[in-house]
Amino acid sequence: MSILSINGVHKTYQSGQTTFQALTDIHVEVEEGEIVVILGPSGSGKSTLLNAIGGIDAIDSGSIVVNKKNIGRLSDRELVDYRREDVGFVFQMYNLIPNLTVYENIELTANISRESMSIPEVIHAVGLSGMEERFPRELSGGQQQRVSIARAVVKAPKLLLCDEPTGALDSVTSKEILQLIEKVNKEFNTTVLIITHNQAIKSMANRVITLKDGKVESDFVNEHQTSAE
Ligand code: ADP
Ligand code: ADP
Repeated sequence: MSILSINGVHKTYQSGQTTFQALTDIHVEVEEGEIVVILGPSGSGKSTLLNAIGGIDAIDSGSIVVNKKNIGRLSDRELVDYRREDVGFVFQMYNLIPNLTVYENIELTANISRESMSIPEVIHAVGLSGMEERFPRELSGGQQQRVSIARAVVKAPKLLLCDEPTGALDSVTSKEILQLIEKVNKEFNTTVLIITHNQAIKSMANRVITLKDGKVESDFVNEHQTSAE
């Protein structure tokens, strides 16, 4: 079943008198359960595309359908629900709330979502048992990223959107975080989209889409997929 359908998407940015074409005629289909890596150099349009899929930024034309919802046709109210329920976000810099504990950071998103998983179960799954009462500043970067993955996953999103999830981590910790993302994909059947400029990440994907100058340069099934292990 198709979980994400991107059809003829165009997006421009206006800056003073000049118009900049950030995305040109993007077509992408993602099936439920896939791990898709969107690869491309800085400025190729990755963030713009991810923000559009996440319902954060509007597109100029075309359509993005996630879990049968056409994002461009949602009311403001429906868009809020969409961001709360259907998609989970993982960022490079974790974006945890500093004065809330690990448990509270995860609880916060669980509480605003209609359908949420058991918090202890998710904490266990991401390997943070025993750290529930710690604050983000008392955790390593890798541990903070585990919290941010738990926070995204606890609301049982259909789609997990990851923006350079290992960008701030050393290579060993990066591997652990990628393994965790694979585990989430398998255990919770969450479709995963990762944007990155890091070529090393593509080996774990079952699909690799390359963006260049706002266009899809290539889109292929990764036959040499290896686990992040
Ligand atoms: P990437 O994530 O691949 O680095 P982005 O999607 O951030 O690429 O940016 C694509 C292009 O659009 C870049 O040239 C960037 O400078 C431009 N861009 C992104 N956001 C804006 C904005 N808010 N206003 C103007 N130009 C933007
Ligand atoms: P990333 O490293 O994730 O690609 P960027 O550093 O390209 O992110 O952009 C960070 C933020 O700044 C994004 O929200 C993007 O939309 C915005 N942005 C990027 N380029 C420009 C630009 N030329 N003008 C205004 N905003 C921009």
